[in-house]
Amino acid sequence: MAGNMTFTIIKPTAIKNNYAGAILKMINEAGFVIKALKFTRISKTQAAAFYAVHEGKPFFKNLIKFMSSGPIITAILEKENAIEDFRELIGATNPENAKEGTVRKLFACSMTENAVHGSDSDENAQIEADFFFNRLEIYY
Ligand code: ATP
Ligand code: MG
Repeated sequence: MAGNMTFTIIKPTAIKNNYAGAILKMINEAGFVIKALKFTRISKTQAAAFYAVHEGKPFFKNLIKFMSSGPIITAILEKENAIEDFRELIGATNPENAKEGTVRKLFACSMTENAVHGSDSDENAQIEADFFFNRLEIYY
């Protein structure tokens, strides 16, 4: 699956606002195949571990608080050129800068509550997928 896999999280506010179905539909319609899927929630400690690369940044505390504030959906997605294509589909980190028709433009509330996460590299996609899924939970 190398190079063809990415990992996503539908973040707490998007779940709360009942956008999960619409977001998963967009993901499928963009040609991504769901290889693993989980409805779950994470503690502050787990959120801090997941976003460890941002530790010390001014927005870190808010990010951790938000990501542990309610249920999330995590998924492993497969498609050619998955990382780049998925980041194109979700749009810019700040929804104000996200292009029309992107997931963040349509469903984000703010820079923190920006609806979805998308991996930024093949290596991180693998690390993030391993953080949430064991081998039995992934359809090969
Ligand atoms: P994600 O990793 O969630 O897919 P991203 O890759 O677009 O988002 P990152 O730079 O990895 O952006 O930042 C992780 C998250 O931290 C962002 O989704 C956003 O919620 C938050 N964040 C990043 N930069 C800022 C900032 N300058 N101010 C507030 N929040 C920020
Ligand atoms: Mg990121």
